[in-house]
Amino acid sequence: MTKKIKQKNNLQLRPPVVAILGHVDHGKTSILDVIRKSKIAEGESGGITQHIGAYQAEHQGKKITFIDTPGHETFSAMRSRGAKVADIAILVIACDAGIKPQTKEAIKHIKQANIPMIVALNKIDKKEAQPEKVKGELMKYEVAVESMGGDIPSVNMSAKTGKGIDDLLEIITLVAEMEELKTDPDKPAEGTIIELNCDNKRGITATLLVKEGTLKSRDIIGTDSAYGRVKTMEDFQLNDIKSALAGTPIIVTGFNQPPCIGEKFKVFENTKKAEAKINPKKSESPQVLDIEDNQKVLNIILKTDVCGCMEAVKQSLQNIPSNDEVVLRILKADVGDIAESDVKLAQSAKAKIVGFRVKASPSIRHLAQQKKVKITTFDVIYELIQGVRDFLSKLLAPKIIRVPLGKLKVLALFRKEKDRQIIGGKVTSGQAKKGALVDVIRDDKKIAQGKAIKVQRDKKELDEVNRDQECGVLFKGPVVIEEKDILEFYEEKRETRQI
Ligand code: GDP
Repeated sequence: MTKKIKQKNNLQLRPPVVAILGHVDHGKTSILDVIRKSKIAEGESGGITQHIGAYQAEHQGKKITFIDTPGHETFSAMRSRGAKVADIAILVIACDAGIKPQTKEAIKHIKQANIPMIVALNKIDKKEAQPEKVKGELMKYEVAVESMGGDIPSVNMSAKTGKGIDDLLEIITLVAEMEELKTDPDKPAEGTIIELNCDNKRGITATLLVKEGTLKSRDIIGTDSAYGRVKTMEDFQLNDIKSALAGTPIIVTGFNQPPCIGEKFKVFENTKKAEAKINPKKSESPQVLDIEDNQKVLNIILKTDVCGCMEAVKQSLQNIPSNDEVVLRILKADVGDIAESDVKLAQSAKAKIVGFRVKASPSIRHLAQQKKVKITTFDVIYELIQGVRDFLSKLLAPKIIRVPLGKLKVLALFRKEKDRQIIGGKVTSGQAKKGALVDVIRDDKKIAQGKAIKVQRDKKELDEVNRDQECGVLFKGPVVIEEKDILEFYEEKRETRQI
């Protein structure tokens, strides 16, 4: 439940802040885009020109603020700093795909945040869409939607055709009304830093989300790591504004140094008091990890620009769910462009270099190529997180899936040499395939595993022989096959796994 404000006087409704979570490719960005394109009244600057981390849409005269950096790590990094950024979470599930690992992760994050959830069953336009099945699956994760007897609203929708978008916005406004999101506009502002940018002319620009009170230009604001007097203030469409009410995303300049994404800010009486709140920087020493013998380690050297905010990136990386097989170790985390010393360290430590809004000069890239060091740079925090997740996933052993092909009953034994044997038999189901793996079953028990080197019929070698046909098989394996044994033919597929 959302925190209720104690003073009764002068409370005013404020727009809800909505975050969109869900598995990759289920349509988070598409939903944000379609709302952005269709539901924003064009401002003086003519719509939205740049990504600032949030925007405001309007539905039947009511404003809704969307955080538009989908990514669970960003969401939980903000939360782990104590800020309750979003008031409402939308769980997006593509209903042709169903519940996937990041869907489960999103459910966990939303439950931990203890905020209301709306389930958006996206891609309803696809012919494989099975929204009812997904609703049933959700019950396993204690997410009971209304039509299943629970109290979580859900909407069938398509970001492609636009179907259900209005229903989604309608549900958001209804949930917001029930939450009674109110603020006292006379109170000094409080809120969260949600995005940072570096502008050549203006220096650090920060996107702030005001959650309480009103922020006015010339106010003095401070976080744990930075402070300053608000010099310029713009709404999300880059129009100059003089004050911002709770629920509004704004872009400000005036910080003495970059604050961290996810930090809370508040208004101070004077700069002295704001400065006194600054926490000394945490040490940048390498992470000490307990690494088990069977675990693989992904070492990275992290470089960020001054505006990139090392702490936020590190925090987000540390929020990547842990895994028994692979561990992420941040060997070094430093501010500045990628340097020769980084490449040398990466080479000796077998590390990858990950940069956030930093450059690597052509000569550094050349050196890295020579030393076989991988450099990857990103400009968006959640793409960096996804990139590191992909590196980790590549270290995971693939999942091996058994694909049954068919069974053969052994009827005759022909020749045996060393570990090879030619047998004759009848295919009783599926097919006997050349090159397939073979389990030998005797009296209903598997006694050995081998391989079908050749399959032949009427002295002709074939790729496969189908059910009810007789054939000969050249079997290779550590066992002597007997009459009446059953040979089970199968293949193994390797499936890459995702963290
Ligand atoms: P995200 O990774 O969750 O942000 O997913 P995206 O918004 O990038 O969407 C992934 C893919 O699904 C893109 O190719 C989209 O065009 C497609 N997509 C998204 N929503 C829909 C939908 O409602 N219907 C169909 N058919 N495709 C969709």
